Amino acid sequence: MGEVNCLYCGKAVPDDVARCPHCGAVSHFQRKGYRHGARLRFLIFFLVLVVMALVLAFWLPRDINVP
Ligand SMILES: [Zn+2]
Repeated sequence: MGEVNCLYCGKAVPDDVARCPHCGAVSHFQRKGYRHGARLRFLIFFLVLVVMALVLAFWLPRDINVP
C-alpha cells in the first residue's frame, strides 16, 4: 500500500514489490516478512548476547574465589 523511493533511481515504488518497476533494481523495502525476519534475527542475536552476559556475570565471581 505504501510507497518508498527506489534506492537506485529515486522514483516512487510500491513497498510490496520485489523489483523496481522503473529501473528493475531489487527493492530493499519489499514485504513485511523481510523486515520481520531481519528484526527476529536481531532479537535472537541480542538475546544470545544477554544470555552470554548473564553466564559471565555468574561465572566471574566464582573464578575470583578460586585460589
Ligand atoms: Zn528504481
